[in-house]
Amino acid sequence: HYNFCAGPAALPTPVLERAREELLDYQGRGLSVMEMSHRSPEFVAIAEQAEADLRELLAVPENYKVLFLQGGASLQFSMVPMNLLGKGGTANFLYTGIWGKKAQTEAKQLGFGVHVAGSSEAGGHTEVPAQADLTLSEDAAYLHYTANETIGGLAFDYIPDVDVPLVCDYSSSLLAEPLDVSRFGVIYAGAQKNIGPAGLTLVLVRDDLLDRRCERIPGLFDYRAMAEAGSMVNTPPTYAWYLAGRVFQWLKHDIGGLEAMAAINARKAASLYAAIDASGLYSNPIAVRNRSRMNVPFVLADERLDKPFLAEAEEAGLLNLKGHRSVGGMRASLYNAVPEAAVEALIAFMADFEQRRG
Ligand code: PLP
Repeated sequence: HYNFCAGPAALPTPVLERAREELLDYQGRGLSVMEMSHRSPEFVAIAEQAEADLRELLAVPENYKVLFLQGGASLQFSMVPMNLLGKGGTANFLYTGIWGKKAQTEAKQLGFGVHVAGSSEAGGHTEVPAQADLTLSEDAAYLHYTANETIGGLAFDYIPDVDVPLVCDYSSSLLAEPLDVSRFGVIYAGAQKNIGPAGLTLVLVRDDLLDRRCERIPGLFDYRAMAEAGSMVNTPPTYAWYLAGRVFQWLKHDIGGLEAMAAINARKAASLYAAIDASGLYSNPIAVRNRSRMNVPFVLADERLDKPFLAEAEEAGLLNLKGHRSVGGMRASLYNAVPEAAVEALIAFMADFEQRRG
């Protein structure tokens, strides 16, 4: 079976096999990682190794903290303004889809100012606004955007070049390719796509941004407090942290790093988009330069074929191809753990279905 789920997504098979081996007895300790104290030397070693491997994979500069938090990417929609706009103020937002909209809504809900500095709404979120068309508010403290809109399949093809700190929701594309972390003030991502199981959220934050927080910020929301406590202000999601560490090891040793991962991901996406573009039954509306390599939404020319398409795909072992409930159609998520063979199987199935039913 191949799993094209948008999240929680497929995990690399070697990682799951390793977890199974270690499930009851982690390296002869007689305990599962799930049963260890987060303060024990064994778990602290697991946690530190995971952070070191992530830092190496993304070449995270020294002046950034890496936080292993809970609450999902959604909690960052609130935590970012609470930490960066603590003294009050406004943030710039780029609006390119549903997740970016939610980030705006949460900031507004807390009473902060929201300025939309660029939007793809008029065109139905099919093309990211160009750098030259961004209209930043002078008094805004940072610019927030969503590198890859998971539902729409719309991805930035550039990193905005602005004078304020950049804050980016990288939930669905972190670790899919190399990234110049030094361009950003804050990067965050829910783990359940390319990082590990749900329940863990990664935050990378530049040191100089740790002192802008609200006075009444809850301890668990406070980047500085979390950084000082090694992400252990309270009990962290230990098992998810361990599995993320295993994923980082897989990326380093089995794949060979993020350049190698990016090459595989580029091939997977290119072959699926080529198949869609060549067909008379399937289509994808996104501007070519902004097509997501991670999430490939497509519709069938005749909606009545949706149900049989999904049923037959499932029978063929191709799982979770249904599009998000808010947009319908299909979506194939091609995260790191989805092998090239899965994409080849999907393309063959789509061609066969089109020939029989299209
Ligand atoms: N941002 C993006 C880009 C996402 O894809 C998702 C979830 O799919 C979220 C935020 C919300 O993540 P979470 O469920 O971890 O809160």
